[in-house]
Amino acid sequence: MKIISKNLFKYTFVILISFCIGSFIGNKFPNLPGFNIFSNNDLSKINSIFDKDFSLVNISTQKVLKQKKLIEVKRKANNIILLIADGMGIGHISTYRLLRGGPNERVALDLFPVSGFVLTHSSNAIITDSAASATAYSTGKKTNNGVLGLDKDHEFIENFTEKIQKYGFLNSLISTSDITHATPAAFVSHVESRSNTDEISKQIIESNIMTVLGGGRHFFLPQELGGKRKDKINLLEQVKRSHVLLTEKNELENFSFQGQDKVIGLFAGKHLRDIEDIKNHKFEPSLGEMLDFAIKRSLQINKDSCKGFFIMAEGSQIDWAGHANNLNYFEREMHDFEEAVQLAFDYAKEDQNTLVIVTADHETGGLLIEPESLNDYLTSKVKFSFNTGIGYGSHTGSPVPIYAYGPGSENFTGTLDNTDVFYAMLEALNLENEDENCLE
Ligand SMILES: [Zn+2]
Repeated sequence: MKIISKNLFKYTFVILISFCIGSFIGNKFPNLPGFNIFSNNDLSKINSIFDKDFSLVNISTQKVLKQKKLIEVKRKANNIILLIADGMGIGHISTYRLLRGGPNERVALDLFPVSGFVLTHSSNAIITDSAASATAYSTGKKTNNGVLGLDKDHEFIENFTEKIQKYGFLNSLISTSDITHATPAAFVSHVESRSNTDEISKQIIESNIMTVLGGGRHFFLPQELGGKRKDKINLLEQVKRSHVLLTEKNELENFSFQGQDKVIGLFAGKHLRDIEDIKNHKFEPSLGEMLDFAIKRSLQINKDSCKGFFIMAEGSQIDWAGHANNLNYFEREMHDFEEAVQLAFDYAKEDQNTLVIVTADHETGGLLIEPESLNDYLTSKVKFSFNTGIGYGSHTGSPVPIYAYGPGSENFTGTLDNTDVFYAMLEALNLENEDENCLE
């Protein structure tokens, strides 16, 4: 007892002295490396997510957004492939590069000759959600978080796929989440809430999207049949009448590529690669396999009549890995996304008439790359950490990168608002003559 209290006194004394010296040196020489830890006076918060300096600031949102002045595109693209990695910031790409092969590794994104930054805030928040951000990409208008295809006053806005379809372009939507999820849904539906999946799925099958691929069979089946629909409608039965329904990846591989029927592929009950449904994984395609199918399908139909195609393909679960603070999950999903990016790039390089754009809707998790221990710049041991919450993180307001290759790519450089991306995509296409009925 005596020894303990003696030691306790000794340690308290040492800590106090260290503290005083640390505070003095820290204040005197605030930029001196190694002393910051001593001048951070709240030891109780070390090793928790609160162990960081922050300033809470109420940001003014009064300024009116000005649309970016675009370069007039002389040589138009026939096709656009838009790849959205949900939740992917610069930190994610850097982390992925390091994990794949170290600092000198180059990934598919590094092939792109044009790049820029996208500002992602929504109409009612500095930190966007996927619904508002994808609506900005699909309509050129800001909306409130959670809203799809409507403006902030809930007025209908024509989206990109609806607009270009009038000029003879074919549309495809692909996602590794359920297809009713916010990002794909923003390119096809108009609803006040992203959680209204009963309505979103209905609008998907009533739309002019020629190829829809992803997960989410549950959202097409009523609860009575094991699905998630509250309206009791068996939409899967309707789909079988109006579309070619695919449920396994071998049906993508063995597709005959004839006729002009709309195709919908629902390869999982919920999202793809669901850890609660591991046995289904072998029947599920990768993002690259779905993109490959959508390109082939678009070319097959285009050959006869239409002007070109638009494909939006989303790597949905990069965001979920960021929310879950799970690095292995993140790397797996980035790899799946990268394969699709490489495929799109290779296709565009060969074709020379396709614009490929790769971006994200927002950053998720505040992914950071640090040395193993503070200010140790001599180590190759790197600490990757998600910095928005322990166990479950959130989106951040950091800008996201955008990459482009092909005709019309010149507008995807510098700083863009997410609404500018919509106009830059329109500028890349030839929208002179309406040709609504290219399929008839
Ligand atoms: Zn998210």
